[in-house]
Amino acid sequence: MAHVLLRHRDIPDINKINVYKKNGGFEAFKKAVTKMQPNEVTDVVKNSGLRGRGGAGFPTGMKWSFIDNKNWPHYVVANADESEPGTFKDREIMENNPFQFLEGLAIASYAVGATAAYIYLRGEFWQVAAILDEKIAEMEEAGYLGDNLFGKDYSLKIFTHLGAGAYICGEETALLESLEGKRGQPRVRPPFPPSYGLYGKPTIINNVETFTNVPMILANGADWYKAMGTADSAGVKVFSLSGRVRKPGNYELPFGTTFRQLIYEHGMGIQEGRPIKAIMPAGASSSIIVVDEKVLDAPLDYASVRAFGADLGSASVIVLDDTVNMDWVINKTIHFFKHESCGKCTTCREGNHWMRNLTDRIHHGKGSGEDVKLLLNVAKQMQGKCLCALGEFSTMAVVTGIERFPDDFKKAVKG
Ligand code: SF4
Repeated sequence: MAHVLLRHRDIPDINKINVYKKNGGFEAFKKAVTKMQPNEVTDVVKNSGLRGRGGAGFPTGMKWSFIDNKNWPHYVVANADESEPGTFKDREIMENNPFQFLEGLAIASYAVGATAAYIYLRGEFWQVAAILDEKIAEMEEAGYLGDNLFGKDYSLKIFTHLGAGAYICGEETALLESLEGKRGQPRVRPPFPPSYGLYGKPTIINNVETFTNVPMILANGADWYKAMGTADSAGVKVFSLSGRVRKPGNYELPFGTTFRQLIYEHGMGIQEGRPIKAIMPAGASSSIIVVDEKVLDAPLDYASVRAFGADLGSASVIVLDDTVNMDWVINKTIHFFKHESCGKCTTCREGNHWMRNLTDRIHHGKGSGEDVKLLLNVAKQMQGKCLCALGEFSTMAVVTGIERFPDDFKKAVKG
């Protein structure tokens, strides 16, 4: 099947503007601006069933329809702060198929009446920012960005903005604070960005992969997109596969592909042919799933993964084999979250500090059974009490690791 998002794998040089144009590039944007009302564009996206690819999976068209039309100007922001451990899909899209992403961002801007769009990139993506700046300049020169586009009363400018390397700036309201030049910490919500976003104005924020779907949906129709995937999760997804697989990488597949197909057909199985012990389907933020035949044959979609007590999130599938102990896994994840906690709320700031101390003790053979119980207790006490998802998700691997793999922790502690 031809790729929808990773089209550079089928079409050489699609990152060149002439090649992109030859392959239908910018036709969807032109159609939107010249033949459709903004709300019609939103309706097509709504009907396609596209859901946000940044992790939360919120219906994209519905989000666009929430934009507050009584308050102007409007903004659109692309969240390119890709920093979840195990996620590396947006980078591949931006580096290799940049025009499709930029066209999707432009279509979204037209749909919600924004004349300025921002791409917020993680600080380490400075090479990607340079690529995008070059492509934006080419679009301006070719008349796809600027004033009175396609001879119509619609103007758009796109800007890139580099963050300073904080994982929390992937949280949409922390991203907005950072984009405004402030310290990147989440805002208390409500109000949500479609009514109070960048500079206090209505703003739509979506992930890079989400925008990249949009030109193809507009070009081929909502039904075409919906026909791929499952009833709950329409279309295709780029799965970032890593861990103990033989062939880690990005794989664009329809939702509904099974874990077994992803890991064994695409990822070429497990190194040394070892058995799979666990899967983290959403990177470091993920709950840990115990793997059996039922899990391997489960379709990868939002609802099916939830049935195993985890979220699909951004689909950063980390595969762990029987050489991996869960006390090591949670020690790694908690070191990450302790480092990245922004410190705004006490629960996450102090909770991650204590979880780090406890996992250090347990993992380095200096802990006891009481430490494991205390660690579980701290993690559970944090749940539902953090200001943003970082704090909440920092506890997922801890709770599920201890509850689902008790033997690993018995082995790790002295008594
Ligand atoms: Fe900051 Fe953590 Fe609170 Fe989120 S949960 S606001 S990252 S301290």
